[in-house]
Amino acid sequence: MRIAVVSDVHANLPALDAVIEAVDAVDAWWHCGDVVDYGPHPDEVVARLRDLGARGVLGNHDAAALGSSVIEWFNPYAHAACLWTRERMAPDTRAWLEALPESAEIGGWALVHGSFRKPLEEYVEYPDEAAASMAISGARLALHGHTHVPRAWRKVGRGATDDRFSVGVPLALGGDTWFLNPGSVGQPRDHDPRAAALVLDTDAGTATLLRVTYDVARTQADIRRAGLPSVLADRLGVGR
Ligand code: ZN
Repeated sequence: MRIAVVSDVHANLPALDAVIEAVDAVDAWWHCGDVVDYGPHPDEVVARLRDLGARGVLGNHDAAALGSSVIEWFNPYAHAACLWTRERMAPDTRAWLEALPESAEIGGWALVHGSFRKPLEEYVEYPDEAAASMAISGARLALHGHTHVPRAWRKVGRGATDDRFSVGVPLALGGDTWFLNPGSVGQPRDHDPRAAALVLDTDAGTATLLRVTYDVARTQADIRRAGLPSVLADRLGVGR
């Protein structure tokens, strides 16, 4: 079985469509949350994922767009974007997001947006944070997002190490315990503006990171046309 895993799409339709185009013949689509907010296409992105039958979890920006008080933690431009998203989301977009759980077990994998310690809040950026999350979930295979940076955390003793992905090269999972982050489709933050996604091959026991070029200028133009903060357009060009 081949599964495409996306995270942090952030209402960026050209980026998601480029990933869909690049991923051929998968059996399922999973996501790790932050489907909406920041970007200009919340309804279109949710419709696309709904059409793909994608399953996944709630992100902090999805929760904020649905009315959660987590918006109070946002910086000014994130706050402005969230109010924009709240006003424009269609009722069926809202209903699809409201059905997302904070964590899920799908096909033997555990999914969460931030961490299993704090699903909507914690950024897993360091080995000790990854190890703590893996200990709490107890799952051998798990996925997360939130940082917008691809990571392949592998459990070593009581700790963890980052077995860095090489783009396009299948990472052999073997019998180890993993906490994988596919990176961000719609707002990468690792100085690489290309959309990121992961393809799991459960027969081969591998995870392969993809980076996909998309029409950044189109999303930037739509952000500016929508009246969203221009910094959200600028950052897409540099992947930060
Ligand atoms: Zn995000």
